[in-house]
Formats: sequence, C-alpha cells, structure tokens
Amino acid sequence: MSQTYEITEHKFDAVVVGAGGAGLRATMGLATKGLKTACVTKVFPTRSHTVAAQGGMSASLGNMGEDDWRWHMYDTIKGSDWLGDQDAIEYMCREAVPAVIELEHYGVPFSRTEDGKIYQRPFGGMTTNFGKGTAQRTCAAADRTGHAILHTLYQQSLKHDASFFIEYFAIDLVMENGECKGVLAWNLADGTLHLFRGKAVILATGGYGRAYFSCTSAHTCTGDGNAMVLRAGLPLQDMEFVQFHPTGIYGAGCLITEGVRGEGGFLTNSEGERFMERYAPNAKDLASRDVVSRSMTIEIREGRGVGPNKDHINLHLDHLGADVIHNRLPGIADSAEIFAGVDVSKEPIPVLPTVHYNMGGIPTNYHGEVVHKKDGNPDEVVPGLYAIGEAACVSVHGANRLGSNSLLDLIVFGRAVANRCSETIKPGESHSELPKDALDKSLNDFDKTRHAKGAIRTAELRLEMQKVMQDNAAVFRTGEVLQEGCDKITATAAKINDIHVSDRSMVWNSDLVESLELRNLMSQAVVTMFSAENRKESRGAHAREDFPDRNDEEWMKHTLAYTDTDNKVHFDYRPVHMHTLTDECEVIAPQKRVY
Ligand SMILES: Cc1cc2nc3c(=O)[nH]c(=O)nc-3n(C[C@H](O)[C@H](O)[C@H](O)COP(=O)(O)OP(=O)(O)OC[C@H]3O[C@@H](n4cnc5c(N)ncnc54)[C@H](O)[C@@H]3O)c2cc1C
Repeated sequence: MSQTYEITEHKFDAVVVGAGGAGLRATMGLATKGLKTACVTKVFPTRSHTVAAQGGMSASLGNMGEDDWRWHMYDTIKGSDWLGDQDAIEYMCREAVPAVIELEHYGVPFSRTEDGKIYQRPFGGMTTNFGKGTAQRTCAAADRTGHAILHTLYQQSLKHDASFFIEYFAIDLVMENGECKGVLAWNLADGTLHLFRGKAVILATGGYGRAYFSCTSAHTCTGDGNAMVLRAGLPLQDMEFVQFHPTGIYGAGCLITEGVRGEGGFLTNSEGERFMERYAPNAKDLASRDVVSRSMTIEIREGRGVGPNKDHINLHLDHLGADVIHNRLPGIADSAEIFAGVDVSKEPIPVLPTVHYNMGGIPTNYHGEVVHKKDGNPDEVVPGLYAIGEAACVSVHGANRLGSNSLLDLIVFGRAVANRCSETIKPGESHSELPKDALDKSLNDFDKTRHAKGAIRTAELRLEMQKVMQDNAAVFRTGEVLQEGCDKITATAAKINDIHVSDRSMVWNSDLVESLELRNLMSQAVVTMFSAENRKESRGAHAREDFPDRNDEEWMKHTLAYTDTDNKVHFDYRPVHMHTLTDECEVIAPQKRVY
C-alpha cells in the first residue's frame, strides 16, 4: 500500500447503507424500535433514485372497484413467470394494504378520488378475479409518487432519532468467519475513512441499471451493495433477469411511466396500428412489461418502427384531454417536452424499450435476512447481513417485476427488516474485537484504485462495458450472441486493472468515486452476462430465441452466481418456494403465461 489510512470507528446496533425508499423505511423503523441506527448514504437522501419513481405503489385497497390481496398475489406470481417465492409474495401483497395506510398517516400526499380516498390507477399485469378483470390497484401521487414517498420518509426519519452519514461512500463489508461485522466507508467531503460496526448491516443500495448504455435509472445506480456481496464470496441471485421498460424516451432514455397507459395511452407502429391488440388481446397495452417490450422489438425488427430509421414506436396520449394530462401526468408532459421536444396534447412521444429494473440481486428471505447455500441448506442465513429494496432478490419479482410492485417492496421489506432486527438484537450490545488485518484487503484495493496509472480512462472503459451489455444482453437473446457477450465482457472486465485515475486526493475525488463504481458495475455485468448464457430457457424478461419456451422441469430454480477475482463465474441453485405462509391463500400452480 502506498500509505497507511487512519480509521475512525463508530458503534451502532444497526447500520443501514442507502437512503432510498428501502433504506429510509428501515432506518425509521429501527430508530422507532429503540435501536441505535446509522444510515450511511453516498448521495443526499432525497436525491436517491426512488425520488424519480412516477407511476405509483400497488395495494389492493379497493378504493376504485373490488379488489383482494389474493388477486394481487396471483398477478405477482404470474408476472414473475413462476420464479417468485410464493411465501414472500403472499407476505408482500397482504402487507401492502397496511403499508399504504401507514404512509398516508405519515403524510404522503396521495392523489384523491372525488370522495377523498387514495386515487388508484390501472397498471400492467394487475387484474381482478385471478386474471379476469382489470384492477385499479396502483396508489399514486400524480406522476411523482416516489418523490412524495421519499420526502415523507426522510422527514419521519429525522423526527425519530437516527444518525445520518450523508455523502459517505461505502467501500466494503467487513466479514469475519462468514459473519458480517460492519462496513467500511469513505467520507467524500473531508476524505476520512470510517468503520461502522453494527449487529446488523442492511444493504439498501439499489439497482445497477448503469451497467447498460441506455437506462432509466440515475447515474448513481451502480449496485455497490451487490458488488460488495460478491467480493465477500457470497452469491447474487437471478442476475439474468433485467427488466426493459417499454417506454423510455427514444434517445434520452428517460422514463415515461406505465401510468400513461394506465390512464388510457396506447402504442402505435408506422402503420398507425395499435399492435398490442395482436400480441395481448385481453390486456393490450397493459400487458406486463416483458411482453410489451418484446412486442415493440418485433414490430421494429419487422420494419414497422416509426421515424426516419424506423427504429422506435409512438406512444399516444393526445386523446386523453388536457384535464387528465394536467392532473394525473404533469411531470410526463414536462419530460416529453424537454427530452423529446414533444407537446403531448398534440403529438405522440417517441419511445423505445429501455433498461429499467434489476430483478436479480442479493438473495434474502422475507425478513430481509441474506441467505446462501451452505451444507446443502439453500436457505442458510448469513449472520449480521440483510438486504432490502432493489438490491435484494427476496424473491418477490421472480423473472419479471410488475409495475408499482417495487415501491411496495421497498416499504414492506424495509419495515420487515426493522421488525426482525428488533426481535433479534438487544440495544447496546457490545461488539467483539476485530482481527488486526480485518480491513487490509479492502484498504489495499481502495489504495490500488486511487493510485491506478494505467492506460484507459474510467469513462472509456465504462462506455465499453455499457455497449457490450446493451448489444449482447438485450430484450431478445440467443446462445451465440450471449457466448460472444461472455467473451467480450471478460475481456472488458480484465481491463479494470489498466485504468487511469488522475486525481489522487481524498477530498471530493469524483474520479475515484466513479472508478470504484465502475469496479462494482463490472462484476455485476459479468455475472449478468454469464447467468443469461447459462439459463437455457425463456422466462419473464429472459427471452432466448434458441430456447423459446419456459422449461419448468429443469429451470424452475433460482440461479446463484459467484465470482472470483479473475471474474470467473460459477453457479449453484436454490429451489423456488412453492408454498404459502398461511392457509388463507393457495399456491398458484404454474400455467402458461398469456395476457
Ligand atoms: C425513473 C424510474 C421510475 C420508477 N417508477 C416506479 C414506480 O412508479 N413504481 C414502482 O414501484 N417502482 C418504480 N421504479 C423502481 C423503483 O423506483 C426502484 O426500484 C426503487 O426506488 C429502488 O429503491 P431503493 O431504496 O432500493 O434504492 P435507491 O432509491 O436507488 O437508493 C439507493 C441508495 O443507496 C445509496 N448507496 C448506493 N451505493 C452506496 C454506497 N457505495 N455507499 C453509500 N450509499 C450508497 C444511495 O446513496 C441511495 O441513497 C422506478 C424506477 C425508475 C428508475
């Protein structure tokens, strides 16, 4: 190491990494339960990507028509293409109702119906009576639901006594004999390093959309927690399942919420045809996201794309009228004008399927405890380590997430993890001494990146990685393209040892932050590509042209992917939970998935 680093130690009962919806709900819950809690976040809490969530949060309140949490459960299992764990899905859909009411009481300014109830809109794949009708289940605060929720949760966290460490970048987990003991972090503002000890370390670090060239997520969505887990020798689960949202703005990648189609918007091809009627005769434009994205891709491939290059699709909302647009979708009208130069009351928005959400992540049970496979037990808990939100794979979304089920997942499992910790951790328990060399490897890696003087700039290598992912792990996949992708991403990943960091300082060194983030993205890009090559079937968002059908006999199982320092990937599997938690609902047996 080129120098020694001084470390300041902090002792807490629980340490939450991340201050998005998941991290803040957990932080607030832990503090309320009397646990001394730290929340460590690389961006200011209300700048977390959750702030950008538009469409809403699902819950079977039944404010705008009949509804039942069992129907929500059915939809989520079907949406997951039978890869979701049914016990966890039952838990989430049942808890959805009290979770939304709780948010309402905390002060989230939901849109209202005439009679003052929370307004709910239809969303893709959300039905009534086990697939027969259309549900209005998605609770919305206009088209700024994430903004409303995140600000409310931050205010509530401040009200309760949690300690915030803002603009602290978490570098690595501190593990000892398979147990998590804390997390090492770098204070970006003054350059100091900090060790946060906790009986529970809760990763709420969000997704890794930025592994791709075109995505709807913020630049900070680099899956740092996922990468820390891989470096700790633990697996990531179901990383081959990457959701493409049907309606990213062509060129810019910004999201146009599914709420637009929920309010009556629809897609057309170059012939002006509402082509979704052909692919999903019942749900049409509100079929689930993987189905709509594939249909759009087929239209473009068959020459019916719009624009001079016939390479995108039109989204119409000009028929909805000024009132609906103004009251329900004001943010969309702005985004379309700024990023596509379009007046939505007169013209369609040019859109294209864009990377939006990572179904894969850190495997957990429905308490948020991280699990792995040990001595034949596929559900062995990793002591001290928890994961929630988009970083986690509970798995409630399986092979494809339904729109508005993520905000729900954040709140339900953020709350669950706080409850679990309050049952298992005594406030103020002492922390054992760590071995002297406990931080050596992490500090060495950090120092190596800080002083990297190779030939490639971080931004150049990042672009190379993003292009490989965009080209070789796209909406449709084949064995040949994926094999080429594995070779390419391995070669790209090897270049991480040849990057050049020009700023050596410790204070607000954004060059170093981006380089650490790139290192994190790279390992996830590698496991995503290899996991996609490995899964020889089509399920949910993973559509292989060489294996067009779902193969439950061989592949109804979760992929566990591990990497070593040379970016070699190896696999193991966990069974899908095909049981419920209570007898108030039934297991949904696998069926063909049609909309
Ligand atoms: C544009 C857009 C619109 C969406 N709309 C909807 C919607 O309407 N409904 C819905 O259900 N879902 C929606 N989603 C999905 C949903 O918003 C996300 O999945 C969810 O907000 C993720 O929340 P999170 O708490 O897991 O992480 P994030 O909100 O991404 O927060 C991650 C947190 O981790 C912290 N962090 C990360 N790395 C580090 C590190 N190394 N050190 C310290 N801190 C770190 C960050 O500072 C941040 O606070 C949308 C997503 C996008 C991108």
